[in-house]
Amino acid sequence: MYLSIEGVGKRFGAATALAGVSLALAKDEFTCLLGPSGCGKTTLLRIVAGLEEADTGRILLDGQDLSKVPARDRGFGIVFQSYSLFPNMTVSENIAYGLSIRGTDAAARDKRVRELLDLLMIPEHARKLPHQLSGGQQQRVAIARALAVNPRLLLLDEPLSALDARVRASLRDQIRDLQRTLRIPTLMVTHDQEEAMAMADSIVCMRAGSIEQVGSPEALYLRPRTAFVADFIGEMNFIPAEKVAQLPGPLRVAQTSAAPASRLGIRPEYVRLHEAGSHAAGLENCYPGRVVRSVFLGPTTRLQVDVGGLQLTVDQPGRSPLAALQDVLVEIPAQSLVAVA
Ligand code: ATP
Repeated sequence: MYLSIEGVGKRFGAATALAGVSLALAKDEFTCLLGPSGCGKTTLLRIVAGLEEADTGRILLDGQDLSKVPARDRGFGIVFQSYSLFPNMTVSENIAYGLSIRGTDAAARDKRVRELLDLLMIPEHARKLPHQLSGGQQQRVAIARALAVNPRLLLLDEPLSALDARVRASLRDQIRDLQRTLRIPTLMVTHDQEEAMAMADSIVCMRAGSIEQVGSPEALYLRPRTAFVADFIGEMNFIPAEKVAQLPGPLRVAQTSAAPASRLGIRPEYVRLHEAGSHAAGLENCYPGRVVRSVFLGPTTRLQVDVGGLQLTVDQPGRSPLAALQDVLVEIPAQSLVAVA
């Protein structure tokens, strides 16, 4: 593995920010540290960057122990949420900064700056000062500056969260494409599950200083191991054991879980609704229910359905014809049920 995080622990006074975290990242991969506020993701990124010292454990990059290597000698590119550009330097000078302090000759430096201006689609801003740019443009400069030195690792700390929704979505896709093209190993911190899903090859879901689950976006969404992951990434209807017993028929589960599971879950888009009294009554895991609420959201309609006291959220594409108080048959497909701890 390219980057190995081995048993990294960190306390701030009485508070445990990281409780012995271990993680391995493959080269070329885009990895997201995802979790709620305070779960320790920024602390972990800062320890990898060398901006914070771990109490226990170590970080290895390509087999080299970084414990004694100061941040400036790690050869990493770092982008923070607040663009943190040098305010009195032009865009070009900001991008060239890392090359200048390394003593790169002027011709090579200018060539590299031009390449990056083109890559980040900001050539027309080369001579401007940061305060003359929008937030999205400033963040492009910050990314170009981080990439200028061909970093061994790119570290992104919530790089999109200060931007408005539209800019955020377009820059998100561009960073992703750029990372795929340049194949720079990247570690990004975010609390935004959609951002992590859209960008990452691998998501590290964290909770209270520990890692809850690591996997591809698809694996975490379709096969969450814990209720925390299931709930943090997307939405999940949980069906506790006692509710299963109250259903007006048996509930078959296709997936089996290796870990001891305490409840079942199903995503809102996998619950199927059929007309009351239709042939669907004979289907497996199909029960009579009633629509409690129907809210049209544009691309989808979100329904609340009551099945013998169990409340389920159901998403249907487009505009659903179902309205509140309507009787329906609710199908919970066995292959879409997950068992979580
Ligand atoms: P956020 O998204 O809010 O930044 P996070 O997941 O990145 O959250 P961290 O910033 O890593 O979380 O913080 C983890 C824990 O360590 C929190 O409880 C936080 O209050 C604490 N903490 C972080 N930095 C310090 C510090 N310099 N001094 C004291 N406590 C700190």
